[in-house]
Amino acid sequence: MNFSQELEVAIVGGGAAGVGCGVVLQDLGLENFALLERHQVGASFSRWPAEMHFITPSFPSHGFGLLDLNAIALNTSPALAFQREHLTGKEYALYLQTVADHFQLPVQAETEVHAIEPLSSNKGFAIKTSRGDIYSRFVIWAAGEYQYPQTNVFPGAELCVHNSQVRSWKEVAKTGDEFLILGGYESGMDAATNLCALGKRVRVIDRSRSWENDHPDPSLSLSPYTRQRLDFVYPTGGLELVGDTQIKEVKRIPNGYEVTGVKESASSQAWVSPMPPILGTGFKGSLSTIAEFFDWSEGYAALTDQDESTLIPGLFVVGPSVRHGNVIFCFIYKFRQRFAVVAEAIAQRLGMDTSPLETYRQEGLFLEDLSCCSNECVC
Ligand SMILES: Cc1cc2nc3c(=O)[nH]c(=O)nc-3n(C[C@H](O)[C@H](O)[C@H](O)COP(=O)(O)OP(=O)(O)OC[C@H]3O[C@@H](n4cnc5c(N)ncnc54)[C@H](O)[C@@H]3O)c2cc1C
Repeated sequence: MNFSQELEVAIVGGGAAGVGCGVVLQDLGLENFALLERHQVGASFSRWPAEMHFITPSFPSHGFGLLDLNAIALNTSPALAFQREHLTGKEYALYLQTVADHFQLPVQAETEVHAIEPLSSNKGFAIKTSRGDIYSRFVIWAAGEYQYPQTNVFPGAELCVHNSQVRSWKEVAKTGDEFLILGGYESGMDAATNLCALGKRVRVIDRSRSWENDHPDPSLSLSPYTRQRLDFVYPTGGLELVGDTQIKEVKRIPNGYEVTGVKESASSQAWVSPMPPILGTGFKGSLSTIAEFFDWSEGYAALTDQDESTLIPGLFVVGPSVRHGNVIFCFIYKFRQRFAVVAEAIAQRLGMDTSPLETYRQEGLFLEDLSCCSNECVC
């Protein structure tokens, strides 16, 4: 096979995970690596609806050993950069671009990865890209979830608009007065609170009652920021929350769209929406495109203690899809703590000095012992 480039490490994706992991490799002194990014650094964030903000707050707490919750590199702070607690996607994309520029990361933008092929005898990977085939000894998969929405969820879902396709809720609000949102977790609630704040009537239908779930892990329950926004829009009277309802079908009817759902042990119920319903049904994620390289027997991609595929040595994962049992790494403040773990595994196999990672350990950016990730809270 003819390769246009030969790398030690290829990082697929230049989002929060790819850039953060790239900084660690740079700190280790690795010279021959690249970030392969289909658009530009921070592309998912720059596609967020204009009115969507981070739910995790930013604060310039790094001087006292507590890195800004949304920082992906030491001594950086999105809060300080933008003087904002809850950044927009565009602001955060600019933060990522600034970090990539500052650390002079080897970003290859406009390079789409179509496929990866493990070579025989664990000799590395052939990476099929829009700019030709690349060889890499290791692959760090950081292609995220946002650009891989979950849309095939029930018959008629194709008639709906997935929230990740929306660029501005203000523009959507101009098209009608009444909206139906299917899915009531963070994406759905973001759509609901924005549309309500713009004076619209909104009904959210959810298979559980996410707004009543008080699980202490924000990966499993609504964040305080979202609850705060709900408190703000409730008094408008424009928001109706329908829980415990499984959507069965969406149909086109003469005056709009009919959504049928079933409540537990009850007959079906139908709602009519003049506008295409909005899907807040989550993301299947980019791992779905390389699913055959993972063991999915527990319902998520099985990874070693160093976040490497249990089936394909040399293939690592960073970002929100990383999961070990009940420990879910779907927020930046969680998954950033695994960049150095992956970097150390690769550096050791390349025979590199790993002592620069000591700082990561001291700064709480090297999480190996997952038994400490209990969500217990005494008050
Ligand atoms: C409504 C909502 C609110 C959220 N709020 C927060 C929050 O407040 N705090 C928080 O921590 N997290 C939040 N998240 C989650 C957060 O956005 C993700 O965890 C984060 O984007 C993951 O970063 P990533 O780098 O893995 O993925 P991404 O940011 O999606 O980056 C992946 C990159 O890979 C590129 N790419 C994809 N496929 C390919 C390919 N085949 N070839 C080349 N490049 C490719 C993409 O262009 C993209 O730039 C939120 C998510 C949603 C939906």
